[in-house]
Amino acid sequence: MFDLDEIWIDVNCPKCNYLFEIQMIDARLEKKVYCPNCKITIKLQDKDASVHTSVKDINNALQELNKSLNNLFK
Ligand SMILES: [Zn+2]
Repeated sequence: MFDLDEIWIDVNCPKCNYLFEIQMIDARLEKKVYCPNCKITIKLQDKDASVHTSVKDINNALQELNKSLNNLFK
């Protein structure tokens, strides 16, 4: 099983809109991250459940992948 916490996700800086990557664990624990571009501190918040949505999407993707693999190795 994949450890979802180790998955890297793209986030946009709310200030400069710079796209950078954080790890799922950071988002889930609502850690503070620094924008590598404008250096502001971003408090990760999951209030719009975007991370949960991503996790759900990833789970769906993994399930699809499993199905494909099962078909492959039949
Ligand atoms: Zn920024």
